[in-house]
Amino acid sequence: MPNGKPAGVACVHLSSNMRCLLFGDARRPDLCDAFGAEREFCGDNREQALVRLAQLEQQSLPDIVVFEGDA
Ligand code: SF4
Repeated sequence: MPNGKPAGVACVHLSSNMRCLLFGDARRPDLCDAFGAEREFCGDNREQALVRLAQLEQQSLPDIVVFEGDA
């Protein structure tokens, strides 16, 4: 994805059966090749991984700053 992938949007190379369409292809990003699934982050299945990902996204949201006059 030339301009990056927004959070929550599936990669355009992800098939409908959740397989990477670039697996084994030289065009597959180096980051994807380097990624190794770990139980701490991926759990035992897709559902657990999505829950953990949502938790991490929530925890990494920037704090909301309210300036005087905005409240
Ligand atoms: S491994 Fe990389 S290229 Fe393949 S579907 Fe996932 S994010 Fe996309």
